[in-house]
Order: sequence, then structure tokens, then C-alpha cells
Amino acid sequence: KDVSGDSIRRRFLEFFASRGHKVLPSASLVPEDPTVLLTIAGMLQFKPVFLGKVPRQVPCATTAQRCIRTNDLENVGKTARHHTFFEMLGNFSFGDYFKKEAIRWAWELSTNEFGLPANRVWVSVYEDDDEAFEIWKNEVGVPVERIKRMGEADNFWTSGPTGPCGPCSELYYDFHPERGSDDDVDLGDDTRFIEFYNLVFMQYNKTEDGVLEPLKQKNIDTGLGLERIAQILQKVPNNYETDLIYPIIAKISELANVSYDSANHQAKTSLKVIADHLRAVVYLISDGVLPSNIGRGYVVRRLIRRAVRKGKSLGINGDGKGNLKGAFLPTVAERVIELSTYIDSDVKLKATRIIEEIRQEELHFKKTLERGEKVLDQKLHDALAAADKSETRPCLSGKDAFLLYDTYGFPVEITTEVAEERGVSVDMNGFEVEMENQRRQSQAAHNVVKLTVEDDADITKNIADTEFLGYDSLSARAVVKS
Ligand code: ATP
Ligand code: MG
Ligand code: MG
Ligand code: MG
Repeated sequence: KDVSGDSIRRRFLEFFASRGHKVLPSASLVPEDPTVLLTIAGMLQFKPVFLGKVPRQVPCATTAQRCIRTNDLENVGKTARHHTFFEMLGNFSFGDYFKKEAIRWAWELSTNEFGLPANRVWVSVYEDDDEAFEIWKNEVGVPVERIKRMGEADNFWTSGPTGPCGPCSELYYDFHPERGSDDDVDLGDDTRFIEFYNLVFMQYNKTEDGVLEPLKQKNIDTGLGLERIAQILQKVPNNYETDLIYPIIAKISELANVSYDSANHQAKTSLKVIADHLRAVVYLISDGVLPSNIGRGYVVRRLIRRAVRKGKSLGINGDGKGNLKGAFLPTVAERVIELSTYIDSDVKLKATRIIEEIRQEELHFKKTLERGEKVLDQKLHDALAAADKSETRPCLSGKDAFLLYDTYGFPVEITTEVAEERGVSVDMNGFEVEMENQRRQSQAAHNVVKLTVEDDADITKNIADTEFLGYDSLSARAVVKS
């Protein structure tokens, strides 16, 4: 069977369509729900239906939803399975079918339609969910040693601090069945397992005071990561090497003149980060989010800046094709757009505008970086002169390294590298002290909004009247003033 990303998506939707589900389009990355920053899961467009606020149009539906998770930003390129942008395949029941059907179909889809060997699929259930445990054991026939009871962190799903939620049951793929099935096998061990499908038994509404109110109807909300199931079925070592993303990496490799296969770990990570971030940026801009200093726009800006820096670390100059004053991200974006047909058909129609936004943002950021280079040059000159005079070893102060980082967006690794080339060391302890000071000050003086799934609600509360003050790329926090 065809295991291309496009056909996996189609086969999933057809599987549920032939079981009575209405195929609906992906919603925008900008949710209608005003309490949420970005679309983090397939269920978001159905939140009012789950809560019983809006009557259901159909008893059950299936979608391929584009998603953004900024809480996974630091995982991008580090784990084999996390992206900021990914597609979530989902089947949903609005008071129609419940646990039994959801579990059976998930199993049938995984082992039959997708052909995963049954002995490689492990499942988890919420610690006290005996009903789900029994269904897996008795109706599906999964041996008990491959059914794990897990706690709230993994097996109780909530889309935010409030809203519809419930216990969940997840499917994991085992890359190393030869390691056995002792009691102490840990599904969180990502050298062995990958979580690919989450079935949420959505039966509560979590209120402001954290109370779980039973919903009028019992719902099903599921999410299967397209890039993850593609990794499994295409038998590649990570999501990035699937046909959904690798063509983008190939294009970046070409611009950087490096080969992915022989690249070192750091270069490989940079290639993955740029590919991931450009997917996110293209789809966010297509959904109307332009780079800016606040809220959603700041997510786009941060992703572009990170991609520019990674390009620099790969040695990409200018547009990567000889024009040193040019931008390289537009070429990467073009590749992303070529692959967009079944993810969002609007993207191609908006291509010119998307590419132009990206070009301008890249060039603008590069100017800031260039100014920083001049400042760095001067600071190194001063440090060398001072060392000459006092007959000490030349060292750039933590304050200066911080100024470059904070004002000119200069990652401290770049500062250190350039300084070293000139025989100057950097006072890293001093730099850390400055970082810590800023962190403390900003926490005291302003509202620090963490861009995580859990905190999305908080940030939107502030969106209307916030002013961007700076950011801290290490902890992925935007610091905004309300
Ligand atoms: P993980 O534990 O691996 O971070 P999760 O438990 O946070 O995943 P869920 O909230 O259960 O993920 O989302 C449902 C499915 O969506 C996951 O099982 C996975 O297949 C996919 N998914 C979640 N986050 C990501 C991501 N950052 N990149 C790619 N796929 C993802
Ligand atoms: Mg996660
Ligand atoms: Mg998980
Ligand atoms: Mg999960």
C-alpha cells in the first residue's frame, strides 16, 4: 500500500468516512475561540459543540487539522517526533459513539488499514479507567503486559486551564520489541517508543475553579500525528525524514551546500529547525498572522528569526545563490508552498504575499544582526586594547555579551565564536548573571507570558493591550507589558 504522507492522510479520512463520519476541512490556525492563542489540536473547532453550547451539525466527523504548538519549540530538531507545525488527523463523536467504538476503530485502523504488527502496538489508559482497560484486554485482545496505566500528566487530556476534557488512552509504536515486556517498561522511553494516537474520552468540562463538571453528552476526541505515523510507516528514523518534510530539508541543504547524510549533529538539527519553522511560518501567514511584536505575530517573528540564525550557523550567505544582499528563506518557503496542496489549498493562492512577508522580515532582521556585528567588532577592539594596557588576557564582559544578545539579537554562541577567532574570551558567568537579572526584573515589572499550551488562554487575554518588550529565546518566553 501507498505510504506517502498524502495517502496516509487520505486513507485515514476515508477509513472514518466509511464508518459514518463527515469529512470536514481543517480550521484556521487562528481559532475562533478567543481564549486560545493558536490551534493546538483538532478538537478546537468543535469546542462549542463538545460543551453543548452549539447544536451538533453531524453525529461524528473526521478532519486533518493543521496545528501549532509553541510549547514544543525547544523540542524541535532535538526529539525525533516534535514540531511547532504538524497535522493532526482526528475522528470525533458528538454524543454519538464512545469508548468501545473509538478503541476498536483505532486498533483496526492501526493494525489493519495501516498494517502495524499487533505485537508492536502498546496502549496506555488513565490509572483508574477500568472500562478502557477491559475493552483493550477483552474486546481487542491486547495482552495485559502491553496495557499500561498512567497518571494525569499523560492520560488526562485538557485543551487548556478550562474547557472540555477527560481521561485518554494512547497508542504507542514499539521500535524494539526484542527488549521485552517486563513490568518496568516505560512508554515514555523515546529510544524505544513513539506515541502516535491519542483517544480522549471527553466527558467533563473543567471550570475556572478546577471542578470537573460532567458534560451532558459523552464525546470522543482523537488525534493521530500525521508526521509520526508517516515516520513509522516509511521506516525512517525521525519525522523530518518523511516525504512530508524531507524535500524542504533537501532544499536548505542545497542552499547551505551541505549534505544532510554526512552533516554533523548540529548541522542536522539546524536543517530540521529551519524546515519546521518555515512550515509553521508559511501556514501562519496564510491564516493571516503577520510578523509583529505581540501575541501571535510574535510567534511568527520569533520563528523567522530562529530560522535566520540557524541559516547563518549553516553558513548560508545572502540568498544562498550568490546574491549576498538577498534572503534565503523565500526559497525555502517556495518549497513549503509546493508541498501545501492537501494541507491548505489556499496557500498557493496567497504564495506571492507570503513569500514577500518572509523576505522582508528576514532582511530586516539581518540588518539588526549586521548592526550587532559592528558593535561586537568595536567591543572586541576595546577589549584587546584594554588587555594590552593592563597586560591581562583579553575578555569581553558579560554586560557586553548581554547587550549584543538583548538589543541586537546576537546569540551568545555567535558572540563567543567571533570573539574566539580574535583571541578574546567571553565572561560567560557575567553573561548568565545579566540574563538572570533581566529574567527577574521582567518578572517583577511585567507580565511574563509563557507561550505554552496551558498558558495560551492567559496570553490572549493580554493580546489587545500588550506591548512587546523583549524576549528570551532560551526559555521561549515573550515578555510583554499589559
Ligand atoms: P508528546 O507526549 O509526544 O509530546 P502529546 O501527548 O503532547 O505528545 P497529544 O496532545 O496527545 O500529544 O496530541 C495528539 C497527537 O498529536 C500525539 O499523539 C502526536 O501523534 C501528535 N503530536 C502532538 N504534539 C506534536 C508535535 N509537537 N509534533 C508532531 N506531532 C505531535
Ligand atoms: Mg507534548
Ligand atoms: Mg504524550
Ligand atoms: Mg498524548
